Amino acid sequence: MPTRTRSSTATRTPAKAAKAAKAAKGTRATKSTKAQAAKPAARAASGGGAKWVYLFNEGDASMRDLLGGKGANLAEMTRLELPVPPGLIVTTDACNAYLAAGGFPDTMWQQVLVALKKVERQAGKRFGDAKDPLLVSCRSGAKFSMPGMMDTVLNIGLNDKVAAGLTELTGDARFVNDAYRRLVQMFGTVVMNLPDEPFEEVLAAWRAKRGVANDADLDAADLREVTDEFKRIFKARTKSEFPDDPLEQMRLAIAAVFNSWNGKRAIDYRNAAGIAHDLGTAVNIQTMVFGNMGAGSGTGVVTTRNVTSGERDIEGDYLTNAQGEDVVAGIRETKRIAALSEEMPKIYREFAAICKRLEKHYREVQDVEFTIERGKLWMLQTRDAKRSAVAAVRLAVDLANEKLITRAEAVQRVKPEHVDYFLHPQFDPQDRAAAKARGDAIATGLNVSPGAASGILAFDADTAEQWGLKEKKAVIMVRPETKPDDVHGMLAARGILTSRGGRTSHAALVARQFGKPAVVGVLAMDVDVEKRQLTVGGRTLREGDPVSVDGTTGEVFAGELKTVVPDFKEPHLLTLLGWADTFRRLGVWANADYPRDAERARSYGAEGIGLTRTEHMFFETDRLPHVQRMILARDEAVRDQALATLLPFQRDDFAGLFRAMDGLPVTIRLIDPPLHEFLPAHDDLQKTVTELETRLRLRDDDGGKSKAAMEAELAAKREMLQAVEGMREQNPMLGLRGVRLGIHMPSLVRMQVRAIFEAACICAKEGVKVKPKIMIPLTAVSSELKIERDLLEDEAKKVLKEQRQRIPYQFGTMIEVPRAAVVAERIAEYAEFFSFGTNDLTQTTFGISRDDAETGFLTEYMGKGILLRNPFATLDQGGVGVLMEMAVRLGRTRRPDLNIGICGEHGGDPASIDFCHRIGLDYVSCSPFRVPVARLAAAHAALAQAAAEAKAAGTKKGARRR
Ligand code: ADP
Ligand code: MG
Ligand code: MG
Repeated sequence: MPTRTRSSTATRTPAKAAKAAKAAKGTRATKSTKAQAAKPAARAASGGGAKWVYLFNEGDASMRDLLGGKGANLAEMTRLELPVPPGLIVTTDACNAYLAAGGFPDTMWQQVLVALKKVERQAGKRFGDAKDPLLVSCRSGAKFSMPGMMDTVLNIGLNDKVAAGLTELTGDARFVNDAYRRLVQMFGTVVMNLPDEPFEEVLAAWRAKRGVANDADLDAADLREVTDEFKRIFKARTKSEFPDDPLEQMRLAIAAVFNSWNGKRAIDYRNAAGIAHDLGTAVNIQTMVFGNMGAGSGTGVVTTRNVTSGERDIEGDYLTNAQGEDVVAGIRETKRIAALSEEMPKIYREFAAICKRLEKHYREVQDVEFTIERGKLWMLQTRDAKRSAVAAVRLAVDLANEKLITRAEAVQRVKPEHVDYFLHPQFDPQDRAAAKARGDAIATGLNVSPGAASGILAFDADTAEQWGLKEKKAVIMVRPETKPDDVHGMLAARGILTSRGGRTSHAALVARQFGKPAVVGVLAMDVDVEKRQLTVGGRTLREGDPVSVDGTTGEVFAGELKTVVPDFKEPHLLTLLGWADTFRRLGVWANADYPRDAERARSYGAEGIGLTRTEHMFFETDRLPHVQRMILARDEAVRDQALATLLPFQRDDFAGLFRAMDGLPVTIRLIDPPLHEFLPAHDDLQKTVTELETRLRLRDDDGGKSKAAMEAELAAKREMLQAVEGMREQNPMLGLRGVRLGIHMPSLVRMQVRAIFEAACICAKEGVKVKPKIMIPLTAVSSELKIERDLLEDEAKKVLKEQRQRIPYQFGTMIEVPRAAVVAERIAEYAEFFSFGTNDLTQTTFGISRDDAETGFLTEYMGKGILLRNPFATLDQGGVGVLMEMAVRLGRTRRPDLNIGICGEHGGDPASIDFCHRIGLDYVSCSPFRVPVARLAAAHAALAQAAAEAKAAGTKKGARRR
């Protein structure tokens, strides 16, 4: 199994980086892609007066496009007069112009130098000054945060002279040398793309030599030598000296950030997260503050609330005497932020107050970075925090209850995927207990992304991708820690497991974002990527062994655990969906064939059954023989007898549904599939017949079966075969099915209608409120419906008369072939409701068979961009949607109160639900498990429309005023 190392997958080779360095000086042009060329060309064309550089105190949070998320928020925090080390921002426009032209745009560098002078004044120090030097960090920051995409370089501005001066000033040689070695290391790995290992090996050797566990325990002299060794590695690998000139360091770092926008891992991440490729990244040059100046200093990363559970407390980690990435890298064991309130109570109070203030200001939970330099607090970053599904729901509800946001905003902030999560499997409690009793609960780590997953262990991203994506196996990816290079494997895995890293580690962030269950920081576990095995508590698991991770509790189990669907009773979720219901206009119904599905759907909030497939009930073993007898019947008497046997079964089925849906409409679709589906397959029958014939001929009396019995069996099989042959069709899906079958075999649909109304009467007598809706499938011609309706209303009236009851009911049809949509006006004459069967409507509109398409050419079509989406998953609005819109309009022309819904699978797809809302459907019907998602999506659709209308009204008003 190949192991990936940083060097082998590095996105830029040293040679390329050197080229980039040249490009930064504007001496060499590199090629650019169209995407990047477009925007900057437009903006840059506006002349030499372009402003490429902003000071932190010149921007604000609204300028994300130009300043990137990190820069805009640093500017905003500066505006709020929070303690932010001063700095400057090179814009995303500058990045795009650089990438298009292969060099810094005109005057950009001069603007950096001018802004730097101002930063120097704000900081009271000078860059490159040996007496009291200003050091800076160089931080990337695109419009959307891309965790770990483009790494930060700290301590820029150090060289031997500056280091000596700083040592004199601070009297802390250890600190200065530590900062210096970090600069060389980060500059080497991030700017010049050298592998990390040689540097880490040097540090490891020194730790071993001194017998210490942490780099923090190496002394000043050791670190000085480490720095020198780093410089030698730098020179040997880049064939150039480590740049001594602080401005040269800064210039190369800025160019490297720009270049990293087009690095492979940045592109992969954008593809996975759906971020546009032409946004570019900004660069932040910020005054350094130092968390590594002894015990009164430190650095931390927190979220202003718990983004795993949604609980109210500030949550996160910090380290004393540490710098920058130490916390997220998981190199040292971090402290929980709560400990800071004891260690530095005054700082903690100030910090907690800032957190509250930021939440209020942004009206959203924040993810912040801070550093304490010798007892002074500095804020280094804030952004809206990523969160788990559970937290997303709870945070939205809490923020609304605290009046930070409105209920509408709370509903809009929760995504369909978040709600969907609650309907996903968790480990079966009994299975979990059994595993524990067996001693299979092998470890516990941090529960950073909830949900349960089982799968086989894969020790690197490529293997995880191969097994998970290509071979469709359930995979748990395990690593010591994850890096941006690993995202493709994480996406293909069911769950993530790491031995290192904290709640803000890369693994945790990515897992939460993509809803993958994850347990990280299992410190007791040794992950040996070389040997492809992990060891924990004396147990060893190898690659390919099954393992289960519970991201909700942080537990790890050996072996595979059964999963169950969780209780749908989380109070915050119920509150949020209740709010969603107040905003939506669309009804949300469910497709359910059995009472237990109907009950589940109802408990999830379904307001009706939009589709019951009656034929599903025919397949049950105690019914199928009667169904077959009915189909094979030569004369009406035999058929009627078979139907009479089936009637009580169907009546019970329907009564169960009516009871479950007491007071709500139940739409029952009469038989739809071609009858041969209920008979044995032709080829199997043929084989059996031939076998029996042969045996009879050879007088092989099969374990005592008499000849007479065999002959009887053969006769039966022959009859069946004949019937099947008689029913054979070239294209059964376009053959005798749907309404056509009902017309061909009226006694069958009569029986169904009788069963429906007898059931309704029984239930009504019990006090159940029944609202049956009889639905005819596959109508194409209005006269089909007319005939069917006459026939069936006759039967319905008969039953009601026999039972002396009145049951209000509706008679309607599915719209699932294009012709029905086109003649919807005439169909509405006989139908009181329409229900779009968009699975068939998509098949018949495209003229493709779903089964063949999805296993065949559809993937190719999407790969080639011929189709952007699978039209069976998300409604094809431009084609199928146009037919639907037409049917709605025409249908309501004839019958203004026509009730219209959708019962195809699209009824549970958020984008399709939005469309259904816009074209004025009354309800969507989807599988019970999608009901909560549909409730939310329907609210989103209504809120989006309201917002669009408000905006349109606003611009109209504005126009009038002018
Ligand atoms: P990322 O986007 O990967 O989080 P950051 O730019 O936020 O990268 O920087 C990485 C780490 O370096 C963070 O912990 C951040 O707080 C720290 N850092 C960045 N700039 C400075 C600075 N000027 N002074 C002190 N620490 C800094
Ligand atoms: Mg980073
Ligand atoms: Mg950061």
